[in-house]
Amino acid sequence: MKRIKVVQGDITKIKVEAIVNAANTSLLGGSGVDGAIHKAGGRAILEECQSIRNRQGGCKIGEAVITPAGKLCANFVIHTVGPFWKNGSYNEEKLLFLAYSNSLKLAVDNEIKTIAFPNISTGIYGFPKKCAAKIAIHTVADFLATSNTIEEVIFVCLDRENYNIYKAMLE
Ligand code: ADP
Repeated sequence: MKRIKVVQGDITKIKVEAIVNAANTSLLGGSGVDGAIHKAGGRAILEECQSIRNRQGGCKIGEAVITPAGKLCANFVIHTVGPFWKNGSYNEEKLLFLAYSNSLKLAVDNEIKTIAFPNISTGIYGFPKKCAAKIAIHTVADFLATSNTIEEVIFVCLDRENYNIYKAMLE
């Protein structure tokens, strides 16, 4: 599991080729990590999100799109939309898996070697943290086993609870 790391911190400060954004279907920015990324990256990100909206009408749950990263130290932002947790019987687990796997596929398509993920869906969208971490780690580990393009994946946890969950699961 050497290609997978966990750190506690702010994803906008991480030096990787691409950071993943837990966006919403509008792609127009929001609160939480989405707001932090748009704020730190500036207008270039929003402008590209708007032209994607004009072309394809936003981004569906489980899908992903890529933009430049504006003023961030990363080169790209991969915007994916995680599911809103209702009670577990609305395909939430499959949709979270798709959000991670489609982000990884887009990274490979763009020859990205280093990528950082936030804890998608575990903020406002209310996904249970342990269950989300299990899906995130398994999806990434399975993907890395079949592809050498991505050299390093960093899970960036803002809160200590998520950090402790990831640390324990990765050990
Ligand atoms: P969602 O709507 O997908 O739940 P949120 O942005 O509300 O998205 O939360 C997703 C996760 O991102 C949460 O665990 C939250 O603590 C975390 N988060 C919020 N801001 C940042 C940030 N600047 N860097 C890294 N993680 C963040």
